[in-house]
Amino acid sequence: MATIAYLDNNATTLMPEQVVQELVNWANQGNPSASYASAKKCQTMMNEFRAFIGRSASCPVDQYMITFTSGATEANNMIVRGVIERARATKGFASSPNSFHVVASAIEHKSILLLLEDMVTRVPEMSLTFVNPDINGHIRAEDFARALRPSTCLAICMHANNETGAINDIVEIGRVVKAYSPSIFFHSDIVQSFGKVPVNLTQARVDGASISFHKLHGPPGVGVAVIKRTQLEGIRPLLYGTQSFGMRGGTENVVGIGAAFAATQLTLSRMPQTIALELGLKKYLIAELANHAPVTTYDKYASARTKLELQVVIVGNEKITDVQWYLPGTIMLSATKHLGPAACNTKIKEKLEEARVIVSVGSACNTSSKDHSHVLRAMNLPTVVMDGAIRVSMCGYTTQEEVDRFIKGFLQEVNRQYMISRESK
Ligand code: PLP
Repeated sequence: MATIAYLDNNATTLMPEQVVQELVNWANQGNPSASYASAKKCQTMMNEFRAFIGRSASCPVDQYMITFTSGATEANNMIVRGVIERARATKGFASSPNSFHVVASAIEHKSILLLLEDMVTRVPEMSLTFVNPDINGHIRAEDFARALRPSTCLAICMHANNETGAINDIVEIGRVVKAYSPSIFFHSDIVQSFGKVPVNLTQARVDGASISFHKLHGPPGVGVAVIKRTQLEGIRPLLYGTQSFGMRGGTENVVGIGAAFAATQLTLSRMPQTIALELGLKKYLIAELANHAPVTTYDKYASARTKLELQVVIVGNEKITDVQWYLPGTIMLSATKHLGPAACNTKIKEKLEEARVIVSVGSACNTSSKDHSHVLRAMNLPTVVMDGAIRVSMCGYTTQEEVDRFIKGFLQEVNRQYMISRESK
């Protein structure tokens, strides 16, 4: 049986053998808060890991507090909730409705969106503005700037989007936020960019950031919350306890953290070659598809007067192979128009899975429009494109043979659906 072609690396990545081995190496070291030698060894490892993250994302530990969490969901919740609760406490309960304001991109991960949507219903002092991306999936700094208000206390914009791979210019967004008011807390979820492309939190004037290590070949359940030290006052923990300097109670997951450290070092040391590999494979994928079917980018598709019956649309624009604008290993494709009501991306995904090729769907074709991916909806994509969306996400270990298997399975199913739709006309 063919091995699995795993092309769903934005969902999670696989752990190389040496990372798995680190899970064993860090087992049975005792409680990291204790004073015996093996506990101290754990403390030293965690401090070295913090310093390594500080150097790798330009958030040095003397300026940023780096706290281990159970993943980016917790880190996002800790920071966003912490800043909102602080604003609420500062303004006071007696203050008028809408006394403080939060701006967030509409394409954030659900760990932020669901929290914000819940808090805005429960906190009368809070008002909330979402900023939509352009049709290429990017949040524009000028749109972000327009949403800011004198009462804005928190601005949230992710670095790279998990579905489209679009990379936001957080340096420019951070600049407009701080130019508007230096006191606005700027939070950026860097889960999909850290380890894949260069990240510089200092340059982007970021006050808070979240990282998740299972996206870079570490184990699931380990992440960090990065918070600028000058912003720490008044931010309460989600979990009370004495560990992690009181920022996050609970015995640290040293087994996972030790393995995450090894994975992060490995992934970052390979980053230049991974970028080159992924970019090469992405260009190859596009070129090979174009040998068999018309391929276009969404901006061109949107402005074309006539839409072809069978056509593969890349969600993005001509910068899709430019690492400044899109993650090198991510591409979202949609085969459009010919998809009849009974034929859809879920079927393509299932057929690929039968051939042991794993990808994900942007949003299932047979869902009602409110269930379409919030990212694709925020981009204002037409239903026919959303219905066909398939995400391919590679990593530094992806091979051309895996990409070939995707191309074969994808085209076979697209053509089969096309024939059925033609026959039924
Ligand atoms: N933010 C983004 C952009 C993600 O892609 C994910 C993972 O899907 C998360 C946050 C949540 O990370 P975790 O699985 O560590 O909670």
